[in-house]
Order: sequence, then structure tokens, then C-alpha cells
Amino acid sequence: METGTVIEAPQLPSFYPPQRILLGPGPSNVLQRVLDAMARPTIGHLDPRFGEMMEQVKVLLRYAFQTENSLTFPISAPASVGMESCFVNLVEPGDKVIVCANGVFGRRMAENVKRCRGELVLVEDAWGKPVDPQKVEDACLAHPDARILAFVHAETSTGVQSDVKLLTEIAHRHEALVIVDAVTSLGSTPVLVDKWGIDAVYAGSQKGLSCTPGLSPISFGERAIEKLKSRKTPVSSWFMDLNLVLAYWNQGRRTYHHTAPVNALYALHESLLMLAEEGLEASWMRHRSNHLALLAGLQALGLELLVEEQSRLPQLNAVLVPAGVSETQVRDDMLNLHDVEIGAGLGDLAGKIFRVGLMGNGSSRTNVNTCLLALESVLAAQGWKISPGAAVAAAEQVWASTGRMAGEAG
Ligand SMILES: *Cc1c(COP(=O)(O)O)cnc(C)c1O
Repeated sequence: METGTVIEAPQLPSFYPPQRILLGPGPSNVLQRVLDAMARPTIGHLDPRFGEMMEQVKVLLRYAFQTENSLTFPISAPASVGMESCFVNLVEPGDKVIVCANGVFGRRMAENVKRCRGELVLVEDAWGKPVDPQKVEDACLAHPDARILAFVHAETSTGVQSDVKLLTEIAHRHEALVIVDAVTSLGSTPVLVDKWGIDAVYAGSQKGLSCTPGLSPISFGERAIEKLKSRKTPVSSWFMDLNLVLAYWNQGRRTYHHTAPVNALYALHESLLMLAEEGLEASWMRHRSNHLALLAGLQALGLELLVEEQSRLPQLNAVLVPAGVSETQVRDDMLNLHDVEIGAGLGDLAGKIFRVGLMGNGSSRTNVNTCLLALESVLAAQGWKISPGAAVAAAEQVWASTGRMAGEAG
């Protein structure tokens, strides 16, 4: 071996992240119980014991999605790949697809349709408004040959919830399938896949499930599988081709497809166990009660939400930045002085809103109070008139009326 031919090894320390309270648009805080699960020994991904755990993950995901769909499993990648998997498997070149866009993620769906060489019909709504069912009905009437309707349930960029049940009914009346983005809704607000008749849905591990980022649970119903099986062209992506992935995820005849992220799946298993232990309905109620408490506190600070009451997401609060307040200074101070991360506005809403996420474990009474106290302090530093303690007092009043323990996980 010649000396001096190797590039010198970098001399760097281990990475120790700071402790943060994650109240942005995701990821949400991961409990130690889930991190501990992740630290268990790595075993082979074709080990029968690992296969048993994978089967349990599928059972737990069916509970979370409220479905009996056998094609329900986590894709080994972030939720963006869950989104892409739905489009790449279900959209063939030339297929007409109606996409509803009322924020960042709807626009991303539209981009996916174009890249699958589908024919895009875009139905747009203002950022901060839900998808308008009348516009969808009109688009379906104008395009009776549309095969798919795609929309976002919980638009994380704006804090808006759209009516999945109604939009799915419209699509089915016009013989189109639906693809639903449930990344920010799963675990935090009802996602009733079977009851609502959703054909294909994807979610993420790091928002309402409070697991580490990097996994994307998906579920396909019978009509979606039929569409996939009747394709005339092969799926253009090898990794995402569900025909191939399925052979890997099906117990009994598992064969190598890709190496599953073994330890990340332990974490997902644990976080889904926690959701099942608390119960979906208890989790939805906790999110709602903490949202109402946060809102009361924000109003006591003189702040208002972007979204009208009937379409607000309890897990993602878009707070209007008041005149005379520096948006970046607020977020910087929250993070640097209080270790609280909140999100900025994106695209059309950049500089106009803060996004306060109360997702999964992050939706707790402690976090609401911590957030309100920190906001009170950083706004006061900018000369905003505040009566000290009023925000937390207002929040506490809400919990007093919704039940003392409503804010806490079971
Ligand atoms: C976060 C998010 C995504 C993308 O998830 P990643 O894990 O970041 O890829 C997609 N859709 C919505 C609605 C989201 O909030």
C-alpha cells in the first residue's frame, strides 16, 4: 500500500442533538419508549421473528386506518414516497386525473400526475380554504373520462381539513377512484378508510403517529388493486412497483426485494401500539381539546387563526402574524430561547402565518402551556401588549370545562 494515497480521515465529534419541543408541521416529538424500541438488536429482515413483527405492524396499521384492506403496510421511505407510490402505481400514461390543490401538498400531487404522464385536471382553491365540493362535482361533470380524484385530507401548509367522505362520494358517483393524502390526519383526526370508501391512502410515521421520520404507511382497497392489476404498461418505478413489494410484505412466501429498515420498523410497531393502547377516539378527543385550549390562549394574546372554525385542523394551527411583529424573530426566539420549534408559512403564506403543530404525543397540556408561555415572552420582547399569565389561564379554563384529564394521553 502506497502511503499518502488516502484522503485524510475527518476528525469530528459524535452528534448530540439539543432537546427540543417540536410544535411545528412535523416531525413531532418521539417518546423514549419508541426510541428504546429502535435501539433493540438489529436482526435479519428475512428472519421469521422479524416477519412476525411485520405482520403485527400490518394489523396495527389496519386499526389506525380503520380498514380491513389486506394491502396495508409501511413503505420504506418518507411520506413523499407514499404519495409517489400511489400515483406511480395507479396512474398510467394518458389517464385523466383530477387533483385538488389548496396548498403545497395538493400542488405536489399535481406534479406527480404530470411525471406519470397522466392528463392533469387541476381544481384550485385559495390557500386557507378547504377543497370546494361543488368545484369537484363540476370538474367530474366536465371530465367524465377522469379515472382518479386526488386530494389532501389535512393540508399541513395551511391548517385546513377537507371533507374526505363527501369528496369520495362525488368521485365514486362519477366512477373515479380516490387517492387521499392522510399524512397529517392519521392518528390525530378520524381517517375512516373503509367507512368512507377510500381507494388508496398514504400517511407518514412522523406526524400524528409520533414515530421517527422515514416510513410511509399506505393502504389500497380492492378497486385500486384492480386498477393496478389491469395496467397495460408496467409501473415505471422498480422500487415502488407494488406488485413486487407485495411479494416481500406477504407472510409465508417472503422473498428479497429491498432490505427493510429493521430498527425503524420496531419504532413504528411501538408507536402504533401506543396509539392502540390510548384508542383512536381518545386520541382524536385529546387533539381537539388541546387545540381548543391553545386557541383560547392565542386569543388571550390577541392572536387569530387563518382558517374558519369549521375547517380547522386541531393538529395544525395556522396563526396569523400580527402587524408590527417580526415573524422570523418570533420563530428564532422560540427556538433559541425556549427550545420550542414552530413552523413558518410556505409559498403564498410565507411571512403571513406561524404553524403550531400539536400532533401525536406533541398534543399535550404541558406543550400547549409551554408554547403559550414562550409566545407570550417573545411577543412581549417585541413590544406586543400582553397581560402576563392570561394565555395559560384561558387555556386552563378550556381544560376545566372539557375535563381535567382530556389534554393528556391515557
Ligand atoms: C409532511 C407531509 C408530506 C410529506 O411527508 P415527508 O415525510 O416529509 O415526505 C406529504 N403530505 C402532507 C400533507 C404532509 O404534511
